[in-house]
Amino acid sequence: MYSKRVVDLSRWLVAALALACIVTFFRVLLRANPTTVALGLLLFILFLATRWGLRYAVATSFAAGACYNYFFLPPFGRFTVSDPQNMVALFVFLITSIVASRLSNRIRQESQDARARQAELEILHRVGRALLQTEELVQLTNSVTAAVAHATGADAVQLYLLEGDRIFRSRGDVTLTLSTDQLREISQNPGILSIAQQVIVPLRSGAKPGGALILDGTELSLPSLEALGGLISIALDRSSAIAELTRAEAAKESERLRSLMLDSITHELRTPLTSIKASVSTLLSSVLRPEVTHDLLTVIDEESDRLNRLVSQAVEMAQLDTHEIRMAFRPQTLRTLIEDALETSRIVLQRHPVEVSLPLNLAHVSADPVWVAKLLGNLLENAAKYSEGGQPIFISARQNGPFVACSVTDRGPGVDPAEQPLIFDKFYRARNQTISGTGMGLAISRAIVEAHGGAISVTSQPGHGSAFTFTLPSASGDAIR
Ligand code: ADP
Repeated sequence: MYSKRVVDLSRWLVAALALACIVTFFRVLLRANPTTVALGLLLFILFLATRWGLRYAVATSFAAGACYNYFFLPPFGRFTVSDPQNMVALFVFLITSIVASRLSNRIRQESQDARARQAELEILHRVGRALLQTEELVQLTNSVTAAVAHATGADAVQLYLLEGDRIFRSRGDVTLTLSTDQLREISQNPGILSIAQQVIVPLRSGAKPGGALILDGTELSLPSLEALGGLISIALDRSSAIAELTRAEAAKESERLRSLMLDSITHELRTPLTSIKASVSTLLSSVLRPEVTHDLLTVIDEESDRLNRLVSQAVEMAQLDTHEIRMAFRPQTLRTLIEDALETSRIVLQRHPVEVSLPLNLAHVSADPVWVAKLLGNLLENAAKYSEGGQPIFISARQNGPFVACSVTDRGPGVDPAEQPLIFDKFYRARNQTISGTGMGLAISRAIVEAHGGAISVTSQPGHGSAFTFTLPSASGDAIR
């Protein structure tokens, strides 16, 4: 306030001094004729109108008219005009200077308005950009106030959402004083309100009131405030819609997985159950030769194992999914883990020669032996299942930074490159797969490896075989789990 008065006063002084200088210059130094003087003074008045506004220009016009009359129109040194022509000249000077001042002032104001509008548009653009960067509703509501405060330069910003009566505040020294009850009432109001230093912009969700944005110490114009309210309302609606969609998609995906699991298990259960039932029926219905009885009992034994494996896989998958399992990591030699897995998968591997080649100085791994045995078992079982009997299976390992990488390689049909990233997904089975399976083995293997802080991948050349490689952290290394 005080400084505005000082600026005003100094401008008046400068205008008066400049007028005095111009008059002295024309009168004493240049001894110019009245036309030159009138044009010179007009120029000065136009300059004032464009720089400082109309009131300085009009007041200076009158002062300049008086000086013009006193110093440059005969009789000199008096405020009277002897020649009627000079009277007209003085009158025209005054009218011209006032009209020109008004025009220049209007241009000045319009350019000021245009600059202000541009600045406000830039603010809206900045807020819009900040809001578009966030899709997640919680993140958005947490960041709106800071984004608005930053872009508008407001001292404090508060976002009030009717849903859940929630308030979000920007960081700032100013404490906003409205209570939740007042905010709830104000949010119903469709127009912008001004209370003391605070401006309250209503937010709408479609036609319904959604809340309010309260800005403290902002100079934004009414249209810009309305646009700001609209922008925030749209951003909130958009995030709510995305959240709704994500929830619906997650529910759909979980439903899909559940039915896939059911399909897969039902299908896989049926085959061994049919074999067991047929074998038992045959055993019960007639007296059989001992070797036939033995064969049928072997079928029952194998198929029961298969059922057992299937149920275990379903349970493991559910446990890994719900993070129910606590792994017990201990330093292990990979060789021991491999030997245990080979022993467990002995029957599955009986038709395949297995070659193990491990470097001598391989670091110990930090692993849960029970789960790593399951992981190796899955990979070995797949290698045996998907390659012809007699084809070899190779197990190798190498140090890879703070990890030990272990590969199980077979000479089977390989995996189509397009399907390689998909086979680790739950229930995914390669297209045209004729060999029976559940699509759970690799998903379980990936969950086990990831629980150890490692990664699993496949490299494969269709027709030539596949190599499944997983990493486990070295017991002494710096791998982060
Ligand atoms: P399942 O073997 O029960 O179908 P997995 O999750 O173990 O389930 O494997 C998913 C798919 O990946 C399999 O259906 C198969 O198509 C492919 N696959 C896995 N291991 C191999 C392998 N060693 N060679 C070729 N394809 C494989």
